[in-house]
Amino acid sequence: MKGVLVIISGFSGAGKGTIVKELVQRYPYSLSVSATTRAPRQGEIEGKDYFFKTKEEFEQMIREDRLIEYAQYVDNYYGTPRDYVLKQLEAGTDVILEIEMQGAMRVKEKFPDVSLIFITPPSAAELQRRLRKRGTEPEEVISQRLSRAREECAYMPRYDYIIVNDELEDCVEQVHNLIRSLHWESGQQGELIEKITKDFKNL
Ligand code: 5GP
Repeated sequence: MKGVLVIISGFSGAGKGTIVKELVQRYPYSLSVSATTRAPRQGEIEGKDYFFKTKEEFEQMIREDRLIEYAQYVDNYYGTPRDYVLKQLEAGTDVILEIEMQGAMRVKEKFPDVSLIFITPPSAAELQRRLRKRGTEPEEVISQRLSRAREECAYMPRYDYIIVNDELEDCVEQVHNLIRSLHWESGQQGELIEKITKDFKNL
């Protein structure tokens, strides 16, 4: 049985990073580690949070077609390495990509079966509060991210599922249940029916 491919996007500060971290800790999902030219934040680990690249290295990955998609986000490149994702899906593991919206649309073009999940905070004011509380970015970057969020609303209707991150715990379980239900939508029930039918014949 092949794994399902899921994209989780949302405004910066919507809490999607925390949700994804919880999901992979609790359940056997594979999280794709992206390449980026952004500098590591305090505590971020090479190969776990991102593969940190120079602009030249990143552009070489583009030329060698080693990325499923890439996008520029607030002056940096971000991209999804191809090999890892395809291997995991083939091995039957569900793969989560936590990427921004332009990249999500590109993946949808290449893999129409991908499911797009959008995480939003309950309000814009709540997003602003969370970004300030995180304290990892200067006010100028926060304001860039908020203005990006304003534009990003236009992508929301193109997502298959919108989930409000109000209570973290509820949100994590909601996303998990949703991903489980996708196995049924993706036509994999055919394989299961065949297997059960065969099992009964051989009983
Ligand atoms: P951050 O700098 O906060 O880690 O990430 C900024 C944005 O880039 C987030 O919206 C994140 O989801 C997105 N992002 C991370 N990795 C990728 C990727 O591989 N491709 C694309 N298109 N976006 C990514």
